[in-house]
Amino acid sequence: MFGKKNSDVLIVGAGPIGMVAALTLAQSGVRANIIDKAGKTCARSNALVINPASLEAFNRLGFVDRILDQSFRVEQVVIYDESQIRETIRLSDLGIAYPYLAILPQSVLEDILESELSKEGVSILWNHRATHINHMINGIELEVDRLVERSIGYAVAHSEKLVDKTLSFTTKLMLVADGYNSLLRKWLRIDTNTVGETRQFAVFEVETDSYPEKEIRISLGNGLETVQYPMVGGMSRLNFQFEGAELPSEYRNKDTIPVQTHFEQEELLGDKHLHELIEDRCPWDTGYINRVIWRTAVPFELRKANILREGHALLLGDAARSFGPTGMASVNLGIQEAEKLAYSVKDGLGQSELLTQLDRLLEDFELKWDAIYQLGNHSRPFEMAETWTAANRERLLQSLPVNGVTLERLASQLFIHLVMPEMVDA
Ligand SMILES: Cc1cc2nc3c(=O)[nH]c(=O)nc-3n(C[C@H](O)[C@H](O)[C@H](O)COP(=O)(O)OP(=O)(O)OC[C@H]3O[C@@H](n4cnc5c(N)ncnc54)[C@H](O)[C@@H]3O)c2cc1C
Repeated sequence: MFGKKNSDVLIVGAGPIGMVAALTLAQSGVRANIIDKAGKTCARSNALVINPASLEAFNRLGFVDRILDQSFRVEQVVIYDESQIRETIRLSDLGIAYPYLAILPQSVLEDILESELSKEGVSILWNHRATHINHMINGIELEVDRLVERSIGYAVAHSEKLVDKTLSFTTKLMLVADGYNSLLRKWLRIDTNTVGETRQFAVFEVETDSYPEKEIRISLGNGLETVQYPMVGGMSRLNFQFEGAELPSEYRNKDTIPVQTHFEQEELLGDKHLHELIEDRCPWDTGYINRVIWRTAVPFELRKANILREGHALLLGDAARSFGPTGMASVNLGIQEAEKLAYSVKDGLGQSELLTQLDRLLEDFELKWDAIYQLGNHSRPFEMAETWTAANRERLLQSLPVNGVTLERLASQLFIHLVMPEMVDA
């Protein structure tokens, strides 16, 4: 094996969660490497809502203005059944630091994070694929293939990746943020538990003839989630939950090419079906669809890892757990957890209790995830609550793209008493 690199912390995966951990560590003066097998950041809108608590985290990290400058701000969420408005939830009434949601494609968020890392002198090691973990007494050795792209083909140009070098990274602590299809989780022999039914969505990014309203629209009609998110540039994202044959988990892999050359699942994602979906499932006016910019189908298995640390490796973000898409919990909780965890690492590095302290923090994260999976059990409708709202409260609360105290306060607008774990601790 050639090159050897070592650092106090090694982060595997430069998605939003790995990058927030790396940035927080860099700003705290901790030496960390961050690697990713992809050649660059993602090219799609994927998880596109930044919530008020994540905006506060970005404020602490010093770049909230860049996020807000490039976002479409939304102050309310309107909830429909299959035909009419049932509730309107206003963040503007909350009196919090950021009383709105920032709608921003994940591709833009990742680019901003990469450039903030670069300001701190951290370069993401793209095209570095983790291939093998060796546990050591005081840390971990990770074997990593450095990849190079080689163009192949003549009439139709495309490329393949070849291994240029195998490197050895040694670290005291490894943060595993390699996403939904985490291979490192499997190598660490950590299983996952299913905690709810898998939700599958057909996703369309569209340009319409009407400028989008400053609201997110969610329909919970017939037990299926349908959502419209407004975006900058007069675009919107439409997400339609569907039932049917299970999508392979590769549909969760991130796209790094911005242009859609083809799409699979014509029956599900073709224009004809999109128009039928709009007709049947959107009780609001979507405007005339001028053009579909991007379409895909994505599975969201509701599951969590049964342990979150193995030796000196711990799981973060989608590698650790996943939620349904409408409440945008995966990315927002992930951002907030990555920041908290990185501060704890900074405080505890070099101390014998570091791993015990991190375990306590991971237990705290897990309590919150469990509460989100079972919001029905954590909530109680008051008498003034609408019957429909009371009956649908679990799905409704899971769909609101906020977390923590903000979620409790929005629930109270619906006359629902919600107690999340952080309030129990308080
Ligand atoms: C098409 C699509 C639509 C989505 N829509 C929504 C939505 O509407 N709402 C929502 O909440 N969420 C949505 N998501 C999910 C959201 O994008 C994820 O929750 C979020 O990206 C998780 O961040 P992460 O940093 O944990 O993982 P990721 O962003 O997945 O990053 C993991 C990184 O690890 C890298 N990696 C993997 N294996 C290795 C290895 N062996 N070595 C080195 N690097 C490795 C990958 O290249 C990747 O960059 C969507 C995802 C997709 C793909």
